[in-house]
Amino acid sequence: MSKDRIIRCITPDGGIMACAADTTDIVYTGAKLHMTSPVATAALGRLLTAATIMGAQLKQDDASLTLRIKGDESETGAVIAVSDSKGNVKGYVQNPDCPTEYYANGKLNVAKAVGRTGILNVMKDFGAGEPYVGQVPLVSGEIAEDITSYYATSEQIPTACALGVLLDKEDHQVLLAGGLLIQLLPGACDEDIDKLEKNISELEPMTTMLAKGMSIEEICRTALKGFDVEVLDEAPVRYACSCSREKIIDAFSTLSDDEIRSLADEKGYAEAVCHFCKKKHRFSKLQLEQIIKERAASSDSDKTE
Ligand SMILES: [Zn+2]
Repeated sequence: MSKDRIIRCITPDGGIMACAADTTDIVYTGAKLHMTSPVATAALGRLLTAATIMGAQLKQDDASLTLRIKGDESETGAVIAVSDSKGNVKGYVQNPDCPTEYYANGKLNVAKAVGRTGILNVMKDFGAGEPYVGQVPLVSGEIAEDITSYYATSEQIPTACALGVLLDKEDHQVLLAGGLLIQLLPGACDEDIDKLEKNISELEPMTTMLAKGMSIEEICRTALKGFDVEVLDEAPVRYACSCSREKIIDAFSTLSDDEIRSLADEKGYAEAVCHFCKKKHRFSKLQLEQIIKERAASSDSDKTE
């Protein structure tokens, strides 16, 4: 049972929103599933955390959000995280075993692994209608700055973002992970902005605050020191994948009959491994033929309608 949670707070005049998440179990699960190297754990963990927080801003019930970072000279390859408005999060790294390098101060060099230049894609699917697609160039490859830049450029929302993943120095297991997003909404006055900027400049790193035992509510209240704070909502979040045989069969619809048959190996089985949760979905030759037959039958009935 995951104990990860997310909280959203707002000032009474609606001028400032703060959202904090403890994503320790989510990042731990992602790292275990994908057997990531230390730097890949940090990159994936930061993006999973960003997706967790951004997913919570979606208002529609069946809305989902996809973040995709692709650096130009990237050792991780693409890093992808998907979340929804119900607190489900998942992700993967293209090259989970990429080499790990450190800055002189001992911190993981995430920017080098992700790529300092490249693209951040943000896709919001609202469950109905056209999805929203935003794209910004990477500004640092450290991910939090790239999320800040996305909000400033694509959504014109002044944003401060902190994302942290703390690994054990010896065995590189995930000890703590979390994130904080603070946004200025229309209605914030200059005085508030100055006060908030001072708070943010004095804020300790996310994992330092979590390590002290601060709750996500206390972290939001510290970021909003000097302001009245209302808690909008607090909810559990978790690493979860919704893949199924049915969804994979749906994905076959882009393939021809012969292409579906060619998926079977010499032993007569096709195997699809989910990128996000590593679950193996197996189809026998016979089942593939059945899928082709049922597809032909349903497309015939489409024609007669
Ligand atoms: Zn899956």
